[in-house]
Amino acid sequence: MDTKDLGFNTKLIHAGEFNDEFGSATVPIYQTSTFKFKSAQHGADCFAGKSDGYIYTRIGNPTIKAFENNIAELENGYDGIATSSGMAAITSVYMALLGAGSHIVSSDAVYGPARDVLEQDFTRFDVKASFVNTSNIENIKTAIKPNTKVLYIETPANPTMDITDIAACAKIAKDHNLILVVDNTFSSPYLQKPLDLGADVVLHSITKFINGHADIVGGVIVTKYAPIYKKIRHSMVYMGCNMDPHQAFMVIRGVKTLAIRIERAQENAIKVAKFLQAHPKVAWLKYPGLESHPQYELAKTQMKGFGSMMSFGLKGGFEAGKKLMDNVHLAILAVSLGGVETLIQHPASMTHAAVSKENKLAAGITDDLIRFSVGIEDAEDIIADLKHGLEKI
Ligand SMILES: *Cc1c(COP(=O)(O)O)cnc(C)c1O
Repeated sequence: MDTKDLGFNTKLIHAGEFNDEFGSATVPIYQTSTFKFKSAQHGADCFAGKSDGYIYTRIGNPTIKAFENNIAELENGYDGIATSSGMAAITSVYMALLGAGSHIVSSDAVYGPARDVLEQDFTRFDVKASFVNTSNIENIKTAIKPNTKVLYIETPANPTMDITDIAACAKIAKDHNLILVVDNTFSSPYLQKPLDLGADVVLHSITKFINGHADIVGGVIVTKYAPIYKKIRHSMVYMGCNMDPHQAFMVIRGVKTLAIRIERAQENAIKVAKFLQAHPKVAWLKYPGLESHPQYELAKTQMKGFGSMMSFGLKGGFEAGKKLMDNVHLAILAVSLGGVETLIQHPASMTHAAVSKENKLAAGITDDLIRFSVGIEDAEDIIADLKHGLEKI
């Protein structure tokens, strides 16, 4: 079914689906590593790119392709590349777009390992990286060098909730001939469409909102143009970062409810944010949907809604935060985010533990910062849980 001109919710359910010979209503799991060629000539033609046909699951698989087609439509992109994890998406992009002697400018508050792998691994291949607060566009301009190839941003950023102006970055990227890559994990295409705002590549940890049920790890990349797509697909396939057909099946199922999950979670999130902001033991709170957020106006124009992620600090600092984390019962003390269940965690000692203390502080990842991912439970229960936890401090 051609869903190109249909609405977002219809695309969530139907984009990428195909008819199999049995009339299956859902996309079947093609749990196979390899595919039969019709003849020796057909096999040779498939490898030569002269004939359509699946070859081997690391290279391509119908279940995985159905998800890639779905997400490509949701992001208004050229095509999608599904990966084994969000980090596989990130490293495939780095591998495809960077090389010895090249330089990348990145948001300083990015997902911890996305920074660690540049600082600790890509440096061994003479790739240099500058990490700046990309919420201030001037910082990006200052960081660009003659050998800069990629501008990489995450907005809202994990875990500071800082927001970067995607359209302004797209303009800078164009002026300096850079490829703009946006990690859209915190928003999902339901709330934010970076390619429409001028980005060249968008990527996700689908482990989070897109799958939404905390039961698989996965990633995906969508590009706007064919040449970049080909480069990244090559890296993904040759480094073996492919998704598995069963993972693809799970996420095809999960993504169908993306819009209603996000609507419900952000309805809860604004209530939780208001409760926390007004609480006497809370020192500060960052949620893009409150006017107290420094980039509230930008969030309003760039995003369709404010999402369900927030960060906050308590007056008693990390010790108080630890008490809160040990005294909530509904919110699960765990990393990850964007699922139907509410999660709480401490980035400085958990997701961003490998980032040096100095770099963490420079990026605004303070020791007191608690990250909170609001789920789709009843808001009253989430708030009561927090209230109870805060009483123990
Ligand atoms: C979790 C996350 C990643 C990494 O994804 P994995 O699926 O865990 O490999 C990348 N970026 C952001 C913003 C994330 O939250």
